[in-house]
Amino acid sequence: MGTPKISVTSKLDGIRSWSLQALDTCPGSIDSPGTLVPACQGCYATTGNYNYPNVKAPRAFNREDWQRPDWSDDMVRELERDRYFRWFDSGDMYTLALAEKILEVMRRTPWCKHWLPTRMHKFPKFRAVLADMQALDNVKVRASSDSVTGQYIAGVHGSVIVPTSDDAPAGTTLCRAYENDGKCNSCRACYDKSVDVIAYPAHGKKMGKVIRILTAK
Ligand code: SF4
Repeated sequence: MGTPKISVTSKLDGIRSWSLQALDTCPGSIDSPGTLVPACQGCYATTGNYNYPNVKAPRAFNREDWQRPDWSDDMVRELERDRYFRWFDSGDMYTLALAEKILEVMRRTPWCKHWLPTRMHKFPKFRAVLADMQALDNVKVRASSDSVTGQYIAGVHGSVIVPTSDDAPAGTTLCRAYENDGKCNSCRACYDKSVDVIAYPAHGKKMGKVIRILTAK
């Protein structure tokens, strides 16, 4: 039996997550001309704590570890007591083989509600596995919009960044973590299948700069 590296971040109210290194595992972060999409230009997971060796090391470990034949069995065992689980606090589901394994873990842990944010919906070969995940009662896949100014496609995207809480478009659910020192507290909207699109107010200096440049045009 192996031990996948599970993270606990204070933001998520004790809810655990499994992550990979940002950008290295995010093919959906690249725009066709070869530049990062706006949401990834300001990505929190490339700054601050995320650059510390003790944060990078488990993500590097996980990138190799998921390829073990018994990884799915070990993940199912890991999640025995979890009622909520977040995939990819950083990074993304960069190969179909990993996506298939995550789907297996989701299927075998029906007691646990999974939230999976991703940009892999941009790649046609991932659509079937993402649809299979979304069809499960305990899974909410949130395809991320690339916008940082509130643009999203209804029926496609499950989340979008907005410059401020006042900019959340009609029909979206505003993330109010900013009212709670950046923490989720008792909110579980991201895991809730009935919540279509979450609007996350931008935070951090890096994202602020991206938005200032974009909105100045
Ligand atoms: S919408 Fe709720 S669950 Fe999602 S990140 Fe914000 S506070 Fe956390």
